[in-house]
Amino acid sequence: MRPTLHPRLVNGRFGDPALFVEALHRREAILFDLGDLSPLSARDLLRVETVCISHMHIDHFIGFDALLRVNVGREKRIGMIGPEGLIEAVGHKLHGYTWDLTHKYAEDLCFDVRETSGAAARFRFKASFVAEPFHEPFALPGLTLDWAVLEHHGPSIGYALAEPMHVNVWRNRLEERGLAPGQWLQALKAAVRDGAGDETPIALPGGEAPLGSLRDLVSVEPGQKLAYVTDVADTSANRAAIASLASGADLFFLESRFAAADGALARERAHLTTRAAGEIGCAAGVRRLEPFHFSPRYEGAEERMLAEVREAFQHLPSAAGRG
Ligand SMILES: [Zn+2]
Ligand SMILES: [Zn+2]
Repeated sequence: MRPTLHPRLVNGRFGDPALFVEALHRREAILFDLGDLSPLSARDLLRVETVCISHMHIDHFIGFDALLRVNVGREKRIGMIGPEGLIEAVGHKLHGYTWDLTHKYAEDLCFDVRETSGAAARFRFKASFVAEPFHEPFALPGLTLDWAVLEHHGPSIGYALAEPMHVNVWRNRLEERGLAPGQWLQALKAAVRDGAGDETPIALPGGEAPLGSLRDLVSVEPGQKLAYVTDVADTSANRAAIASLASGADLFFLESRFAAADGALARERAHLTTRAAGEIGCAAGVRRLEPFHFSPRYEGAEERMLAEVREAFQHLPSAAGRG
């Protein structure tokens, strides 16, 4: 399968959490968490249109200012989603500055902030970022975003990003049946993607045919799935919720803050050990596990941390996620 989603950890496995995700053929990028964003170029920051926040501990949220700074004075809409309290936290961030010159700009910068509970507010530059009521549902065209409310010290939201299945047309089979390619193939693909029944009529260049008689013209591949979970306590409720959220993911970014031998510390800080992360990745049946958010206390021991995760996960390739 040709990968469509291209994620990269902005600060590697040890630095602040921030996962920059590009999708093939899309200019817009998605960020999971807003840790230190200084390694991102202004060009990359300007591409961010969706931000998914796990929780607002400083190592996951301090990058908001970098994102704000580069976008001020531009026509832009940034959708944000996160736990309860996100609206208030964004409001506080924005109101740490004076916005008395906003009327001089024609461009408007908008933060559309949603909490997973359903609460939402819009902060507009030209309204000096005073919170406004907002009711548009969350949408990420061409992709789906699922989330789970997990336990850390407070709530921490885990995410799964997936693309729809790929429907590919066999050109040679079209030719064999004397069908000219054209716009009608989009309707055929959409019907297959939506799981329409065999009787569904599909308009062809010279008439109409039931979907069932056209299925051999296409092949179907599952879309790519990427999951991101960080800052979670090792509880049975979390393990079950994470395994179900990340189930079958092609790529799973999962925190592994502490070494296997430091389980007591992990419990106290409501984080996972390498071993717990490997076990959860294995239970979720993910294809590739990318551990991250290693504590700085293990600086220089990255290989050991990876080996511990791998041992519990079993299938982790030794060179996973270098660079
Ligand atoms: Zn953290
Ligand atoms: Zn935290």
